[in-house]
Amino acid sequence: MTTALVIGAGIAGPVAAMALQKAGIHAKVFEGHPTGADELGSWLTLQANGIDALAAVDAQHVVRGVGFPQPSMRFLSGSGRVLGRMSNGAPLADGTPTQMMPRAGLYAALRDEAVARGASIAYGRRFVDATPTGTRVTARFADGSTAEGDLLVGCDGIRSCVRQVIDPAAPPVRYVPVLNIGGFIPGMTVPDAPVGEFQMVFGKRCFWAYVVTPDGGLGWFANPPRADEPTAAELAAMTDEDWRTWLLALTASDRGPFAEIVRAAPGPLAGWATYDMPTVPTWHRGTMIVIGDAAHATSPAAGQGAAMALEDAVLIARFLRDAPDVPTAFRLFEQLRRERVERIVKHGARSSNSKAAGPVGRILRDALLPLGLRMAQKQNTDWIHAHHVEWETPAVSRPAA
Ligand SMILES: Cc1cc2nc3c(=O)[nH]c(=O)nc-3n(C[C@H](O)[C@H](O)[C@H](O)COP(=O)(O)OP(=O)(O)OC[C@H]3O[C@@H](n4cnc5c(N)ncnc54)[C@H](O)[C@@H]3O)c2cc1C
Repeated sequence: MTTALVIGAGIAGPVAAMALQKAGIHAKVFEGHPTGADELGSWLTLQANGIDALAAVDAQHVVRGVGFPQPSMRFLSGSGRVLGRMSNGAPLADGTPTQMMPRAGLYAALRDEAVARGASIAYGRRFVDATPTGTRVTARFADGSTAEGDLLVGCDGIRSCVRQVIDPAAPPVRYVPVLNIGGFIPGMTVPDAPVGEFQMVFGKRCFWAYVVTPDGGLGWFANPPRADEPTAAELAAMTDEDWRTWLLALTASDRGPFAEIVRAAPGPLAGWATYDMPTVPTWHRGTMIVIGDAAHATSPAAGQGAAMALEDAVLIARFLRDAPDVPTAFRLFEQLRRERVERIVKHGARSSNSKAAGPVGRILRDALLPLGLRMAQKQNTDWIHAHHVEWETPAVSRPAA
């Protein structure tokens, strides 16, 4: 039986393991973290196309357990003016709309599902290198251990080590000039916000957002603008008080409940910088490939990173199932995926930049946004949200018998 080494058990890794298993390929997953916990990014919107990808491996039920429907978002200016609403796309044929969930909840649910289906996930195994030998590949880990397989799928996220092994000249990540911070406040309510609809505020000096959750709490996040890239040490040194003081100052002239939210948010508050990967020239070499954020990370503003990782995870297994050999499967996968994912990364970068607009850009943005939102509503975004991942039909036409 063909064995795939899957590096990373974030979002793409466990789903790739399930899809490979469904394609008749044995998958061994290796996760660098000792427990697999990656709590960064408190909230995640999983748009309908991501749920459709999960349906291809009969795993769409997983998200219903951790998320709640989020069919649309409402946009406001810092002065409290309603700029418009934007749909998160049509629901799937079975009625499932886009879902909102804690990021850590999705990670845990996907891993549990993969393990329940017999996948092995080895924790504390940080991939450091790989050597292709003929049609096989040997992965090496930081603890000195090795693993051998017929192919290797790098699902190791935006700072991918597999990407560097495939192409040592791969470009670095790109800093997107906003920070992220957010969390959950149990038992907090605010007026005028329907359950499940994100209220997105283009504040005068900072983008901030909140959502009333069905369990009677409040989810929130903010994107304080920051032109130069902060160091990890600088962010780690910021105390809860530093964050509260900064966020309150940035939003002091905005209308809405953000000051109460910032004061009520339980600590520890931790913020992080935002990055994307506009283009990764080389996705595969021999029997090694990268998928998900490792191949095409988008800034969180696109709301599509997880969905694209899920699409990749299923489609790579479909090509491996149907192509005559591994390099052909990888080539056809890239041929199908590259244009779509890079278009979405561009879309995400534009959204992030609008959150970091300067004084003049802000005036223009607030004046043009209502029209922009109306046009966006009319524009057909089906190419993003109604994308369907096909599983049953062969990905490669087979010669007639
Ligand atoms: C703040 C924030 C908000 C976001 N919001 C959204 C959203 O609303 N909607 C959306 O669709 N997407 C969102 N995203 C993006 C989404 O989380 C990512 O696109 C998605 O997680 C990518 O999945 P992945 O499996 O490719 O990578 P990841 O989920 O990052 O998983 C990579 C895994 O690999 C492991 N790993 C890394 N290096 C190694 C190594 N050397 N050896 C072994 N294991 C390793 C990591 O520990 C991790 O478990 C957001 C991201 C952030 C940061």
